[in-house]
Amino acid sequence: MVSETQLGADVEADAGTEATGDVTASNSLAAVPITVARGDGIGPEIMDATLRILEAAGARLAIEEVEIGEAVYARGHSAGIEPGSWDSLRRTRVFLKAPITTPQGGGFKSLNVTIRKSLGLFANVRPCVAYAPFVQTRHEGMGMVIVRENEEDLYAGIEHRQTDEVMQCLKVISRPGCERIVRYAFDYARANGRKKVTCFTKDNIMKLTDGLFHKVFDEIAVEYPEIENEHWIVDIGAAKLADTPEIFDVIVMPNLYGDILSDVAAQIAGSVGLAGSANIGEHGAMFEAIHGSAPRRAGQDVANPSGLLLAAVMMLVHIGQPDVAERVHNAWLATLEAGITTYDIASPGATPVGTAAFATAVIERIGTSPVTLPAVTYPADQPPLAIPPALQHEPQTKTMDGVDVFLHYYDRDPAVLAEALTTAAGDASLKLQLITNRGVKVWPNGLPETFCTDHWRARFQSAEAGATTRSDVLDLLHRLDKAGLDFIKTEGLYRFDGELGYSLAQGQ
Ligand code: NAD
Repeated sequence: MVSETQLGADVEADAGTEATGDVTASNSLAAVPITVARGDGIGPEIMDATLRILEAAGARLAIEEVEIGEAVYARGHSAGIEPGSWDSLRRTRVFLKAPITTPQGGGFKSLNVTIRKSLGLFANVRPCVAYAPFVQTRHEGMGMVIVRENEEDLYAGIEHRQTDEVMQCLKVISRPGCERIVRYAFDYARANGRKKVTCFTKDNIMKLTDGLFHKVFDEIAVEYPEIENEHWIVDIGAAKLADTPEIFDVIVMPNLYGDILSDVAAQIAGSVGLAGSANIGEHGAMFEAIHGSAPRRAGQDVANPSGLLLAAVMMLVHIGQPDVAERVHNAWLATLEAGITTYDIASPGATPVGTAAFATAVIERIGTSPVTLPAVTYPADQPPLAIPPALQHEPQTKTMDGVDVFLHYYDRDPAVLAEALTTAAGDASLKLQLITNRGVKVWPNGLPETFCTDHWRARFQSAEAGATTRSDVLDLLHRLDKAGLDFIKTEGLYRFDGELGYSLAQGQ
C-alpha cells in the first residue's frame, strides 16, 4: 500500500528529480521523492513529530508512504513488507523509517536485515554524542561515530542444526565487504574532519575472519596518512568505550560488535532515544532511529522523537538539502538548551513534555541556533561521500591439503571414533590426522577431562601439502558412508598462493 504527499514550502510542480539513485547530487528547490514508513508502537507518533518539523523547516520532499511491520507480518508477508513497498523503495532509493515490532517466533524474518541486505546498505553510520549539561551524561566530551558493517558476519543468517546437541551459525566475512566498510569509514573521517579511525575486532581468536577485517584495515589506513589509526581487541575496546568514550573518534567494526556497541555508546552518551542512524549503499539509503518500537510507551504521547529526527537530518544532507538539515539540527539543539525534553532525558525535578509538544518547541526555534552547545554547519558545497566499489581481485592459486569431515557420532570416546574412521577409510589416499570436539583436539593425545558433544571434526590430509583432489574427498566420503558414519558436512583445507586458509585445531 503506497500513498503520496508533498512536503515543503518550495515544492515545484515538476519535481525534475526522478530518482536516479544519485539523489545525493540534487541541491535544487525540487521536491525529492522519499519513502516513509510510520512503523509500530511509538513509530507513528515520532514520525508525525519528525515530519511536522521537516515541513516547518522547509524540507522539499515528495513523500510516498508505505506500510511495514506488525500488520504486514500478520497479512502473511514473512519479512513485514509488501511487494508494492519494494517498488517505492527502488523508485525513491531513500527510506525514512520508524521502528517496527518484530514478531516473536519462527517463520518471521527481520525487516531491517532484509532491507539492508536486499538494497546492499553496507554501511551503518551511528553518531553518538553527549549534550552536557542539557542531557545528563557521564561522558561530557563524547562525540564518536560508529561505522558498522551492515551485511555480513553472523548476520548472514546461515544457521543449521547439525546434530542432536549442536547448532551452528556461519560467520561470513568477505574481502570486498571489509574493503568497502573500512574505506567508507576513512572517507567519512576525512570528509568530516575527524582525526582518528579505530578498528575493533577479535582477531586474536578469529584469525581468518576478524583477521581479514583487521588486515584490510591496516592496508587501507596507509592511504589516509593524515588520519590516525589504531586497532583494539573488541573486549578491551568495549571496556574503554564504556569507560572513556571521549578517546574515540570514528570506530569501524564488523556487524555484531557494531550492533551491540552502538547501543552502548548511544545509551552512555545520554539515551538510546537520542541516536539516529544512516544505512548507506550503492542502491539507496535508509534512515532510522537506533531504538525499537517501545510498545509499552505507544499511544501515550511520551516518546522522544529525537533519534528519528536526527536520522532525518542525515537524510536531508544525503538528498542535498544541507540548509534544511542545519536549520532542523540547530533548532533541536536550541530546544535542548531551553530545557525542553521528553521524559527519558529530563533532568531530575524538570517537567518533561510530550512528543507533540517537543516537536512544537523545535518548530518554534527554527531559525535559531544553540548558544552553549556547538551549532552545527552542513556546508552547501560538500560533495556527497562516494560509495567505495566492491572490488574483485585476481583469483589466487588454490590448492587443497585435505578435508575436515564433520560427523554426528554418539559415543563420547574419541578413541572409538578414531578406530571407526581409520577402519572405514582403509587404504584411502587421505589419512586421519586428528579429531577435535568443539574445536579442541581430543585425538590423538587428548585430555580425558575434555567434555565431548555428539559433534566431531575429523581432519584427513594427503601425504603431501596441496596433493588432495576433489576425487580423493569423494572417495573418502563414499568409504565413510559405506561404514554408516554420519558425516554432516565437509570443509576443504585450502591454501591460497601457498598461504594457509584454515585454522589449526586448538591444542594442535
Ligand atoms: P526499544 O528500543 O523499543 O525500547 C526499550 C526501552 O527504551 C523502552 O521501553 C523505553 O523505555 C526506551 N525507549 C526506546 N526508545 C525510546 C524513545 N524514542 N523515547 C523514549 N524512550 C524510549 O527496545 P525493545 O523493547 O527491546 O524492543 C521493542 C520492539 O522493537 C521489539 O519488537 C524489537 O524487535 C523492535 N526493534 C525494532 C527496531 C527497528 O525497527 N529498527 C530496532 C530495535 C528493536
